[in-house]
Amino acid sequence: MTNPKYAFLKGKIVPIDQAKIDIRTNALQYGTAIFEGIRSYWNEKTKTIYVFRMEDHYRRLITNSRIMMIEIKYSIKELCDITIKLLKKEMYTEDCYIRPFAYNSGLDIGPKLIGNKQDLFIYSIPLGEYLDTSRAISVCISSWERISDNAIPPRAKISGSYVNAALQKTEALLNGFDEALVLTTDGKHVSEGSAMNVFMVRNGTLITPPVTDDILEGITRDTVIKMAREDENIKVIERSIDRTELYTSDELFFCGTGAQISPIGYVDKRPVGNGEMGPITKRLQDLYFRLVKNEVSKYSHWCRKV
Ligand code: PMP
Repeated sequence: MTNPKYAFLKGKIVPIDQAKIDIRTNALQYGTAIFEGIRSYWNEKTKTIYVFRMEDHYRRLITNSRIMMIEIKYSIKELCDITIKLLKKEMYTEDCYIRPFAYNSGLDIGPKLIGNKQDLFIYSIPLGEYLDTSRAISVCISSWERISDNAIPPRAKISGSYVNAALQKTEALLNGFDEALVLTTDGKHVSEGSAMNVFMVRNGTLITPPVTDDILEGITRDTVIKMAREDENIKVIERSIDRTELYTSDELFFCGTGAQISPIGYVDKRPVGNGEMGPITKRLQDLYFRLVKNEVSKYSHWCRKV
């Protein structure tokens, strides 16, 4: 049987082939849903699955559901418990991705956020690398601009907003790049990747766009900031980044639940540093891959055992 075998839908865990929704579903028609992406890691040494920063992901889902006026009937604890139950049934022995999805489940025609029925589902799938983290990838500046807070708020993981990400990623792939970096609507600053945050290293300092530059307030971004400041003694600044700063930076990397910590070697065909993974990126990546598997005791509270 292929994975996943189960999903949580309409208040209960059901076999995946019974987890179906109506073609008239409002969220399918209009993208009126908000979701999360959480990773669980298989630790081969201890033969244990750990879910990384699960509470924080569910906190972000519940907080940002206010933007979409979607009421989530479950508490953070209940959502975590459901997720653990689901993973226990799946019995994965590999890394996986968990997708909670809160959506307008009503069948009425019309894009609106009030007067709808709402529901939530969760499923998980095995997921290896989303981006190759072993080499420095090649990215372009997308010709597609980032959605803005006053159009489709990027602060929330709104399903409809991922059309923007899909256009960026597709353009990058069709042009022979691995990923895209995206500028804010006014074209003045670097916002983020198609589905990941970005960090730049200049003169030993880590710099990342502020939360007001139309980014998703990434949980991995937060992890990177903490690791850099507390464990690696690296200064971190949140400030707007110009496009040409990317061309002249010492190191660049993406971060995200899917992307993990992914070094960038080329931007618009210009090498970043020597075009390979830089030393600061390497230090942060090494620490990240250990802490998500609960191998760094200081961060074990972020790793929920299944
Ligand atoms: N930006 C966007 C647009 C994303 O989709 C993601 C992935 N969730 C991120 C950034 C990274 O966020 P996180 O570290 O919370 O996964």
